[in-house]
Amino acid sequence: MRQNLVIANWKLNGSMELVHEFAQSWDALDNSNTEAVLCPPAVFLAKAKEAYPQLTLGAQTSSAHTEGAFTGELAASMLAAVGAQYVLVGHSERRALFGESNSIIAEKVVAAQQAGIIPVLCVGETADERSEQRTEEVILQQLEQSLVSADLARLVIAYEPVWAIGTGLTASPEQAQEIHKLIRGWVAQKNATVAENIQLLYGGSVKPANAAELFQQPDIDGGLIGGASLKLEQFQAICMAAQDK
Ligand code: PEP
Repeated sequence: MRQNLVIANWKLNGSMELVHEFAQSWDALDNSNTEAVLCPPAVFLAKAKEAYPQLTLGAQTSSAHTEGAFTGELAASMLAAVGAQYVLVGHSERRALFGESNSIIAEKVVAAQQAGIIPVLCVGETADERSEQRTEEVILQQLEQSLVSADLARLVIAYEPVWAIGTGLTASPEQAQEIHKLIRGWVAQKNATVAENIQLLYGGSVKPANAAELFQQPDIDGGLIGGASLKLEQFQAICMAAQDK
């Protein structure tokens, strides 16, 4: 039985005060059937872990490199050392705004795994790709090219249609399930046991009002939450929708 997983991606938002607020309610967010993960800006990780050891923390990105002349980069091992257990890799904002290609993402996945962090690989099609009926082709290509050297047993995959991120548009539960099934099928072709166990998340304008019906889908094991993860009550309601699965 797979555990549900709900990840808060604060992006370039939040503060130690907000970490404190979430930490006070952590017992309501995180329980035996649903793990909650907080991904604040990386500068807050060390202090968050020190002050609130109960938190499960993640980073929003990490370097493909382990050390060297890469100004501004943070190695996965450094993020692990300050408490990150997960790292988002290939978020659509990183792909679109920071030029991350599938091949860079593939290196980042491996670097994270080598540092003992679980990468959360984000995949998803743009609105144009969907209207051109290329969704499946795009997702399969992202999986093939981003996971070329990955250990699939130590990985989470998030399906995040680009057109649904931060837009208020959400994939219908049926649309989301269709792609999650495709992703699980792709993993099954590599390893059937891993496919049974791998956690697949949906992301893209998940809110308290739509979380339950998305999470009820058989291949959706939780969510990657952006905007709604900045409000404790909303994130808590989303975690409770996962807990009720
Ligand atoms: C995200 O940033 O991964 C995301 C899903 O954002 P939002 O929930 O705001 O659409």
